[in-house]
Amino acid sequence: MKSGIFCVFLLVSFFLGDHGLFAQGHYTIVIHGGAGNVDRERVPADREAEFFARLNEALDAGEAILKAGGSSLDAVEAAVRILEDSPKFNAGRGAVFTYGGGNELDASIMCGREIAAGAVAGVTNVRNPISTARLVMENSPHVLLTGRGAEQFAAEQGVEIVDPSYFFDQYRFDQLQETLRRRQESGYLHPDAGMGTVGAVALDMHGNLAAATSTGGMTAKRYNRVGDSPIIGAGTYANNASCAVSATGHGEYFIKYAVAYDISARMLYKGAGLEEAAGSIIHGTLKDLNVSGGLVAVDRDGNVAMPFNTTGMFRGYARSDGERFVRIFAD
Ligand code: ASP
Repeated sequence: MKSGIFCVFLLVSFFLGDHGLFAQGHYTIVIHGGAGNVDRERVPADREAEFFARLNEALDAGEAILKAGGSSLDAVEAAVRILEDSPKFNAGRGAVFTYGGGNELDASIMCGREIAAGAVAGVTNVRNPISTARLVMENSPHVLLTGRGAEQFAAEQGVEIVDPSYFFDQYRFDQLQETLRRRQESGYLHPDAGMGTVGAVALDMHGNLAAATSTGGMTAKRYNRVGDSPIIGAGTYANNASCAVSATGHGEYFIKYAVAYDISARMLYKGAGLEEAAGSIIHGTLKDLNVSGGLVAVDRDGNVAMPFNTTGMFRGYARSDGERFVRIFAD
């Protein structure tokens, strides 16, 4: 009799406990495809529809995993892979060009349950940098691998390696020429933030948070410049005790202000809510410095924040209550 009661107790705690099935009971996934200052008039309806289609596809991929009880880590990776494969966004296939006319890709991923993270920077031949970042996290003792070494690791792990010409996109190439021309006129050689960095954050039904970010960086970047996207605590952060964050914007400032970690810290140390913590850095600190950017974040209760201080940010979310939201501009 006693052992019967004990078995029932074990079963109940398995289903309701921290590691049990569906302990949390609800899920949320939030994605972004970059923030920037774009005139609404300059985005024709058919282009806008294409962006919506890709964002929805990424949400579908992530949501299918969460709905089936899968992990937030699998969900953010799946969503980001869809956006990396689209030439519409500045990541993977649609990466912006460097000063030298190449593409150097950065990505990172973080698991909020284990405070585990992986990242790659400056890779030129990896089709889906986000998946290599995950392999760095899971199959290496390191957090961040760069350049040739990261590419060697990717090849050894058996991920899809492509010819660098896979990343050639005429629109992006024209963008580089235009940037270089403008710079020659002004003599000013600062890289441009290319709207389109992608990212995802999610809370799964087990209560675990994860974040992922992937980018081509900034148009005309030089000297193997690395931005915030592959820097844990700057462009990406996740901690089950607070939130998961994926950022986009002028990376140098997101590194200097440790933006993604700062949001988690404000929640943990100050007891700030997600919206307040995320909003104060984007609309306060960064806005005051005239720094463009935005981010998506989700906390352990499934609250969502998507602040940006530009005219637009490709963004959307899907939740277990059936709510779905996809937008580019503020209204
Ligand atoms: N944060 C990216 C970088 O600085 C660029 C962007 O999000 O637009 O590399």
